[in-house]
Amino acid sequence: MSKVIEELQKYARELVSSGLVVGAGGNLSMRDGEFMYISPSGFDLKEIADHQWVKVHIESGQYEGELRPSSEILMHLECFRKNLSINACLHAHPTYSVAVSSAGKEIPPLFPDFPAMIKKVGYIDYVIPTTSILAEKVSELVVDTDVMVMRNHGVLTVGKTMKEAYFFMQLTEESAKVFTYSSVLGSPRILSNEECTALRNLSTEKYRAKLLEK
Ligand SMILES: [Zn+2]
Repeated sequence: MSKVIEELQKYARELVSSGLVVGAGGNLSMRDGEFMYISPSGFDLKEIADHQWVKVHIESGQYEGELRPSSEILMHLECFRKNLSINACLHAHPTYSVAVSSAGKEIPPLFPDFPAMIKKVGYIDYVIPTTSILAEKVSELVVDTDVMVMRNHGVLTVGKTMKEAYFFMQLTEESAKVFTYSSVLGSPRILSNEECTALRNLSTEKYRAKLLEK
């Protein structure tokens, strides 16, 4: 089994067991040279066999084999086309991130890892999933954004590795969860811009590298 398929299988199962996706919701992909492998349409992520990942040519969008790629293929393709440093894309429908963003709010920095690890979070107002309109919005943001929160839909994260993209997804959802609980208890104290900058300066490469060690 290739390294790429091995990674996809590992994180597809982690996504389901962590509760970040439910049923057939969510999809993930990884770059492999001029191709990408993406989850097939209509599958529970934990039930995909090694040979069922769909191989798609990134530039032309043409795919091989009998299984159809995830219906959200267009935004994955745009990520790999527009940002050559990205090797992994992850899309899920995590409860708290969808809840907070659908209330018209942004997910604020309440604890150090969120601002320290994620350089930019972008927000996309609701558009119909799977459409080229959504792919276009993603393609504008992905140039300099790690996390794209789609209101009334879900979250898309990208990374140099799948481990990084997965970590960004976990951090985003954890932040949305903490914000929700904190708002129920009172008025959350949000980390200031100054505090976030200090965290980024302190942390940057060393901190990120340490947390993302294999
Ligand atoms: Zn979706």
